[in-house]
Amino acid sequence: MSELSNDLMLFNELVTVLLNEEENHPVAKRIEANVLYDTIDLSLNKSAMADNSFKEVLKDILVATPKTATNLFFNQLFGGRQSKAILGDLLAVLLNNSMYTYKVAGPQVGIEQEIIRQSCHLIGYGSQSNGTFPTGGSMSNYMALVMARDAKDPSCRENGITKSLIIYTSKASHYSNAKNASFAGMGRANVRYIETDTKGRMISAELEKQIQIDLANNLTPTFINATAGTTVLGAFDPIDEIAMIAKKHNVWLHVDGAYCGSVIFSDAKRHLLKGIEKSDSFSYNAHKMIGTPLTCSLILVKDKKHLHDSFSNDADYLYQTDGDDFNLGKTSFQCGRRNDALKFWTLWKSIGTLGLEKIVDHQFELADVARNYLEKHPDYSTYSYEDSISVCFNYKNIDPKALCTLLYEHQITVVGFGEFNDDTFVRFVTINATNTKEDILNFFKVLENFVEEHHPILETAVC
Ligand SMILES: *Cc1c(COP(=O)(O)O)cnc(C)c1O
Repeated sequence: MSELSNDLMLFNELVTVLLNEEENHPVAKRIEANVLYDTIDLSLNKSAMADNSFKEVLKDILVATPKTATNLFFNQLFGGRQSKAILGDLLAVLLNNSMYTYKVAGPQVGIEQEIIRQSCHLIGYGSQSNGTFPTGGSMSNYMALVMARDAKDPSCRENGITKSLIIYTSKASHYSNAKNASFAGMGRANVRYIETDTKGRMISAELEKQIQIDLANNLTPTFINATAGTTVLGAFDPIDEIAMIAKKHNVWLHVDGAYCGSVIFSDAKRHLLKGIEKSDSFSYNAHKMIGTPLTCSLILVKDKKHLHDSFSNDADYLYQTDGDDFNLGKTSFQCGRRNDALKFWTLWKSIGTLGLEKIVDHQFELADVARNYLEKHPDYSTYSYEDSISVCFNYKNIDPKALCTLLYEHQITVVGFGEFNDDTFVRFVTINATNTKEDILNFFKVLENFVEEHHPILETAVC
């Protein structure tokens, strides 16, 4: 038998170990960081390792690695497993194409383009639209920023920036906006953080005011980032109102939908993106709400000319056959690029657009289950609003940082905390669409039992 066949059998054996472990211990046994290297043999050595010891160390690692697919993981903006997407990703690993040319990727090019085409159609971008799969939401935002910069100041591609190009984003937006401003040579000091309302949505009147101030100072408004699903509260900025302001001042409008842009698949929730067709670019992460393995991020552009203007470069050693429409390296940031499309395509192909809609809608249903529970129980205070899958709360006035840390250290459940204005709270995210209503209610039971048992330690941690 070939080495690969043997290793795939080993893979199956390890998968069985992992799935059993997840069943019995949904939260991985925590290894203190300061004893990590003493606890598992992670060392790389001069000599080969015996097959059996190799297998054992792999098992140790699997068991100790945090479990993100179980019904007690709520820490991040991803979770669970969509099996058909895993299948696609495993195939992508075996095929090992690079997405830059048709010569090397073949039908995988069409797979990527079909996802982009359908996504553009869902948001009402016309026939000039296109997109690509960057490494993640931060990179998607970066590519949007670079296109906006180049559109406003075309000579900067050749000569560098010569004026102050101003960026607008809400105070609740993702931190990549600040990093990207520095990467793009526009400068962190040129980012304007616009006030949000009590539910975390950008106040468009404040945006207009700030643009007027910058214009009066002879600065150049260049890029507005609106967020569809803010990272903490899951709030949706009013795209329609913001789009009017962007148009009036001829400023690029990007919509960062990394977290919740996948509502494009939901008839019930698509209204949260009202006005999206007026934006210049839009990004969403299928590895968040859709549940594909990390990473699977798309940036869509209403006019593909901008992708070419900012990201194409001639390279005779690379582009030797086929046209630009099939040589995707002409519109990507990287040269060699992993196939992130196949896993999304296998899922979409197998369950249909209606299946994706169910995945998205289910997360909002789970959030409603959580909010209803919190509202009925007076020990909880909530910071969560309808149409958000981030259910933020505090319990019995216990310091949420201490609570989340203790829950993690005792391997009870993995959940994080967030901050908005002056409040800190537990941020419970119902993004794992394989969870049931019972899983959601179980989380609160688990939390309450833990507090009951550890009352004395937590008493001292009242906020
Ligand atoms: C997660 C997130 C990002 C960053 O996406 P990565 O894929 O983690 O780089 C950007 N914006 C928002 C609103 C997010 O929630």
